[in-house]
Amino acid sequence: MLLKVLAYSYLNNLYSSRKMEAALKENIQFMWLSGMNKPDHNTLNRFRSQRLKDVLKEIFAQVVMLLVESGHVSLQEIYTDGTKIEANANRYTFVWGKSIKTNKDKISAQLKELWNYAQEIASEELKDNSPVEFKEIDAEKVKRTIVQIDKALKDKEVSPEIKKKLNYARKQWPERLEKYADQEEKLGKRNSYSKTDPDATFMRMKEDHLQNGQLKAGYNVQISTNNQFIVNYSHHQNPNDTTTLPKHIEQFRQLYNQLPQAVIADAGYGSEENYTRIKELGIDPFIKYNCFDRDQNKGLKSQYHDLMYDKENDCYYCPTGKKKDRCGTTKKITENGFVGYYARYHSDNCEGCPLSGQCQVGKKKGTIEINHNLNHLRSEAIDLLNSKKGEYYRRKRGIDVEPVFGNIKQNKGFRRFMLKGLSKTEVETGLLAMAHNLSKLTA
Ligand code: SF4
Repeated sequence: MLLKVLAYSYLNNLYSSRKMEAALKENIQFMWLSGMNKPDHNTLNRFRSQRLKDVLKEIFAQVVMLLVESGHVSLQEIYTDGTKIEANANRYTFVWGKSIKTNKDKISAQLKELWNYAQEIASEELKDNSPVEFKEIDAEKVKRTIVQIDKALKDKEVSPEIKKKLNYARKQWPERLEKYADQEEKLGKRNSYSKTDPDATFMRMKEDHLQNGQLKAGYNVQISTNNQFIVNYSHHQNPNDTTTLPKHIEQFRQLYNQLPQAVIADAGYGSEENYTRIKELGIDPFIKYNCFDRDQNKGLKSQYHDLMYDKENDCYYCPTGKKKDRCGTTKKITENGFVGYYARYHSDNCEGCPLSGQCQVGKKKGTIEINHNLNHLRSEAIDLLNSKKGEYYRRKRGIDVEPVFGNIKQNKGFRRFMLKGLSKTEVETGLLAMAHNLSKLTA
């Protein structure tokens, strides 16, 4: 009964448990659905946030399977896209990974200063102590070092300024470092989180009414659709769509015990990792990459300029005729642990060349980096996207998945989560997806 009430509420753009409670007392349709039961907002909320969190995806998949059986949906082609939805968190309660690092570095530098001072005036007392490394510090290490410094400086004449610094360090630093350790644990691989919803990450949202580019705490919501019905949804704490696809597709497999034949997505997903992983699963990746439209007109190019590749000798020739020889390979590991290999080519004596700004990797002038595997995957993507099927999918992508976000945000007015936390907000997305599918079915 409670699930029926929740699904019907989300169908009617009612997201607040207090408004649902009121509707159960006033609205005849809600009364009929609940069989005249009147659960209060606490019961509704407990059910939504606790009971549904482990089972809603399964219920959602069962509803999708009914749509598949009735011929409304196919699980063979899925259109995937993502949007950021604001978390139920205060905008000004951010914790930044970078400022934690800066503060820790400051403590570390000051501790080193105190240690050096102690060594200067009490070298005898500190002589047996092994050299202290201050790069990695924690509360315990700081406590231990201060005890050592205190012991060494006992009965010595110490400047009042150092005494003051030591007192401050003794009282403040261990506590602050414990707080930073706790914050780092919450951050994980992220750069930021909100104190009022630690699972939410600060991201740039499309809805920027003040037009000041302010980052807001939110979740990256990924969905896959077919025929404008949602067939899969997942939440991510990373603002970047690229890294979310493997996990999203894996969830599709878990939900339906099968994989789609084709995944269609925009250029935000066109990475080496995604092309490789999707192909490994036997799926056709109809996925653009960021320079796809340019390469369409001018042919596949390197990211530098018109370089000619001599495959036999594994070297490049630049527009001025200079030869660039292979000088090594670099590895780049993505957030998901995927390793990409970049071949380096170098030529000397490039002074005065107007294109030298492009022939540069970091500070190394005359050098370029080429990912041959990615270029190969991109040329395969061009062929796939320019096939008859590819052209059809590209046209359909814009009218399949994108209107679904429009419906959720504009028509259903859902722009901010009511609940806090990754698993609870995912329940809300699940309820929204079910409501969207039901209203689409009856439209
Ligand atoms: S910088 Fe060197 S390699 Fe690059 S285009 Fe100029 S001359 Fe050629």
